[in-house]
Amino acid sequence: MITDIHIHFCAADRFDELLQFCAEAGINRAGLVSLPDKKNGNFNSAVQKAFKSAPEKFIGFGCLDHRRERTEKNGAMQVEELYNEGFKGLKLLLGKPAAEDEFKLEMESSYIAGALKAAANLNMPVLFHIADPPDHFPKQPPGTFSRWIERGVELFSNFPETTFITAHLLFLAGGLSNLSRIMETLPNLYLDTAPGRWFYRPLSENKDAATNFFNCYADRLLLGSDSIFVSPDITTYPMLGIEENNRTIRRINRFLSAGEHEIIDDPYPGNGGGWLACLNLDKAVIKKITRTNADRFFKDA
Ligand SMILES: [Zn+2]
Repeated sequence: MITDIHIHFCAADRFDELLQFCAEAGINRAGLVSLPDKKNGNFNSAVQKAFKSAPEKFIGFGCLDHRRERTEKNGAMQVEELYNEGFKGLKLLLGKPAAEDEFKLEMESSYIAGALKAAANLNMPVLFHIADPPDHFPKQPPGTFSRWIERGVELFSNFPETTFITAHLLFLAGGLSNLSRIMETLPNLYLDTAPGRWFYRPLSENKDAATNFFNCYADRLLLGSDSIFVSPDITTYPMLGIEENNRTIRRINRFLSAGEHEIIDDPYPGNGGGWLACLNLDKAVIKKITRTNADRFFKDA
């Protein structure tokens, strides 16, 4: 059985499908993650309904309603509301150009600072999306990939009491020495594996460094799939079926655990396909990443 810390659940009427997916994928417990929405604020109510229906199985990461930033100078109030509604964590998506543009809000704003401080006081981890795959960014400043990473690292270092989980290995699978340096600088930082597609090639091509990295930070890596359940009428986020979500989990698991000479098909279109060698990590390391590291976020659940 596994714990998946990163499943977007944004459609309350797909709850039965979520349960079926968890049963098929062997997911014992999951972090259900909301998303921000320009029109309705967020999808927190779907997440809340799910964790109230199965509190032993699910915890919720709620989103701020960014529309309230116009009238409230400090995001702390919203984080306290989330806490009182039973959410265990906070989700922020502001670390990339599209989100910053859409919500007209910078992650360095005093509004977000208030939210991050409140999250620390309430012991709520913050699942933070910083950057995107490097090939999505211009090569020239100011909007380069490395600039977004620097902004994220600077923000995290300003809130040492807040626990951060950055999704997608911080998009630094192609820069593991930099990522190691960041992990050493920020003891309050965890990474998740969601959803994996882009990172297989850089990890596989530097297999020894990748294996060392996973072994070294085995206590601070979390399995996340980025599986997503939205309503068909939502066009801002992709709607993936159970089968696609399931394939993602199987692929991450297989990549971490399969033997040295086993291979997987590269799923990232930007890489042009091809076969990749798996990491062959020890069982004890895999158990931490796919299950026990997440335990601390489920306490009192
Ligand atoms: Zn996500």
